Amino acid sequence: MRTWVLLLFAMGCFGLQAQNTYLHCGKLIDTENGKVLKEKTIVVSGNKIRKVQDGYITPKNNTDIVVDLKGKTVMPGLIDMHVHIEGETSPTKYLDVFTKNDADVAFDAAAIANRTLMAGFTTVRDLGGSGVNVALRNAIAKGRVPGPRIFTAEKAIGTTGGHADPTNGRKKELMGDPGPAQGVINSAADARKAVRQRYKNGADWIKITATGGVLSVAKNGQNPQFTQEEVDAIVSTAKEYGMKVAAHAHGVEGMQRAIKAGVATIEHGSLMDKETAALMKKYNTYLVPTISAGKYVAQKAKIPGYYPEIIVPKALEIGSKIQDMYSMAYKEGVPIAFGTDAGVFPHGENGKEFGYMVEAGMPAMETLQSATITNAKLLDMEGSLGVLKEGYIADIVAVNEDPTQNITTMENVVFVMKEGVIYKD
Ligand SMILES: [Zn+2]
Repeated sequence: MRTWVLLLFAMGCFGLQAQNTYLHCGKLIDTENGKVLKEKTIVVSGNKIRKVQDGYITPKNNTDIVVDLKGKTVMPGLIDMHVHIEGETSPTKYLDVFTKNDADVAFDAAAIANRTLMAGFTTVRDLGGSGVNVALRNAIAKGRVPGPRIFTAEKAIGTTGGHADPTNGRKKELMGDPGPAQGVINSAADARKAVRQRYKNGADWIKITATGGVLSVAKNGQNPQFTQEEVDAIVSTAKEYGMKVAAHAHGVEGMQRAIKAGVATIEHGSLMDKETAALMKKYNTYLVPTISAGKYVAQKAKIPGYYPEIIVPKALEIGSKIQDMYSMAYKEGVPIAFGTDAGVFPHGENGKEFGYMVEAGMPAMETLQSATITNAKLLDMEGSLGVLKEGYIADIVAVNEDPTQNITTMENVVFVMKEGVIYKD
C-alpha cells in the first residue's frame, strides 16, 4: 500500500508514467506526407503516442516494454468506412431474422468485432443493423469485449419496399407496415422522425438507401427510392443533431439526389457516370467503393441457391461493375474513402480491398492514406486518429512487407495495438 502511494506521489511530482511501450519500427508509413520512413521508435504512454523518434531508442526505465518491429512496416490502425458488424453472409442469412434473438446476434457480433480488430481495423463505421450495433459499440468502448472503435448508423433508413425495408419478401401477415421507428419513411415528416429516432437510439451516423440494392428481396437494384424533399429532410435534420449521412446508391438518379442534399459519402456508386463524378467533386462527396463486396456477390450469385432467385441477376449485373466504375471515379478526381461492406463477404478479409484499389489504378500509398488520415477526417477524428504522431491515439498496426512494394501484405496484419493495448503480436 505504502509503495503504491509513494509511486503515485512520484508520478504526480515528476510526470512519470508507470510503463511506456517502445515500438522499434523498421519502416513507418507517414500518412500525412505519403512517405515510407525508416528506423523509427514510437513511444506509447497510456492510450497515446508520446513521441516518434529517429533510430531505435532503448528505454532507460526497466519497467518499459520494447516491441521489435524492425522487420515490419508500421502504420496507423486501419479504418473501414463500411461494415455490417452484426452479421455475415451465409446461405441461411435470409432466415436469421426469424431464428435469432438479439442475444444470438450480440454474441455473433462480438466474435466478428474481434476478428475485425485482428485484421488490423481498429476503427469501423457500421452502416446498419438492428440496434445490437449500438450496444456493441458501447461494450467495446468500455473495454468489456475486444473490437474496433465503432461509429454506427444503428438501423438504416429506407422507404416502403425499398432496400432498407426490413420486411421485404415476407408473406403479407408478416410484412406489417413498418414506419419511421423501424427506419421506413414515406414523407419529409417521416424522414425527420426517423432521423430523430436514430438519434434517440444512440446512432452516430445516418445511413440511407438512396436507391435499390443488390441483396434486398426486391426486383430493382438501382432505382431512386427517396424524393428530393425526403432526402433533403434527412440530411438537414441529421445536421441539426450533429450527424452526417451515408447514402447507399447504385443508380445515377438516386445518387445525384443524395449528393445535392449534402450527404457525406456515397456507398458503392456502382453505375456512376462522369456527370455524377463531376457532381461529387463539386460537393466534395466521398465515394466508399466496396469493391470487395461487388466481387464477392457476383461470384456467389453463380452458386445455385446461395441467394434468393430475385437477387441473382442484380448481383451479376451490378456486382461486376464496381471496380471499373471505381477506376473511372478515381481518374475523374472523386474523393475516395476506404470501405469494404464487410458482412456482405466474410469479416476479417477487409484488407483485400487494398489490392483491388491498386489493381484499379490507385497508388498503394494513396490506398493507405484513404484508410487512415482521410477516414479519420470524415469521422471528425482529425488530430486523434489516422497518423502516427505525438498526441494521437495509439492505434498502431504492422504488416510483414512494405505495402508500397507488395499491397497484398495488407491481408495479413501481424501486430495490432489499439489505444495503447497490444491485441496481436
Ligand atoms: Zn452495406
